[in-house]
Amino acid sequence: MENIFSRIVSKEEPANIVYENEYVCCFDDISPSAPVHILIVPKKYIQSLATIEAGDEKYLSEILLASKEVAKMKGIDQSGFRLISNCNHDGGQEVNYLHFHLVGGCRVGHMISLPKAAKKAMKEMGL
Ligand code: AMP
Repeated sequence: MENIFSRIVSKEEPANIVYENEYVCCFDDISPSAPVHILIVPKKYIQSLATIEAGDEKYLSEILLASKEVAKMKGIDQSGFRLISNCNHDGGQEVNYLHFHLVGGCRVGHMISLPKAAKKAMKEMGL
């Protein structure tokens, strides 16, 4: 699957890469939502969390290890950070290449922010 993240991984497209190894590539998000906003992607095309397979374990564990390394590099491992992966339509995934957002550098607020209509629907369901 050829898209922006596969081109960044193969260096056909520029990005500010902050950390990489054989399994992962980590680069600045082009439109940051927090003072630190790094994208962590596997160096194997995986569409999303909904398509991971047995055999992808090494890439997935390297993503978690890279998040710790990048947080340390950015000096936010002690203050804290959040790791998010949006999956498909309802998860708000825009780029069809598995990626994790590492965000921090300030308190990042409530975990999820539902649209008003979804909050109303939940209320109606008694949730
Ligand atoms: P998501 O909505 O989870 O698919 O997130 C996609 C993210 O990719 C967004 O936060 C975008 O700002 C980011 N993005 C898109 N194109 C680029 C790019 N060329 N370099 C870095 N980040 C990008």
